Amino acid sequence: MGHIAVHDLERYRLGLVMDEGELAKIGEHLLACPECAECTQKAPTQTEHIGDHDLERYHLGMVVDEGELAAIEEHFLACPECAGRAEEAARCVDEMRVRLVLGDFA
Ligand SMILES: [Zn+2]
Ligand SMILES: [Zn+2]
Repeated sequence: MGHIAVHDLERYRLGLVMDEGELAKIGEHLLACPECAECTQKAPTQTEHIGDHDLERYHLGMVVDEGELAAIEEHFLACPECAGRAEEAARCVDEMRVRLVLGDFA
């Protein structure tokens, strides 16, 4: 039996596998195959980074899609680069709020 395709592992990880038969098959394979199980623990390396626009939306609480939210949060866990950018974005948003409160919006 072959390994599970990266694409299917990703779908499984994100909870996008709805078919019960497929779910069971993947679940069974993961139990038997540490290699594939490991793949579900970490984000795939070829995942695209989170865009500035999406980071901003995330910090403003505008990302309401659960799948998207989960994908972004998972990416932060796996990607120090984006986690760092997220912190920066959070700071910018905070600064913006402070300026709004202080009425200092030149
Ligand atoms: Zn496998
Ligand atoms: Zn990233």
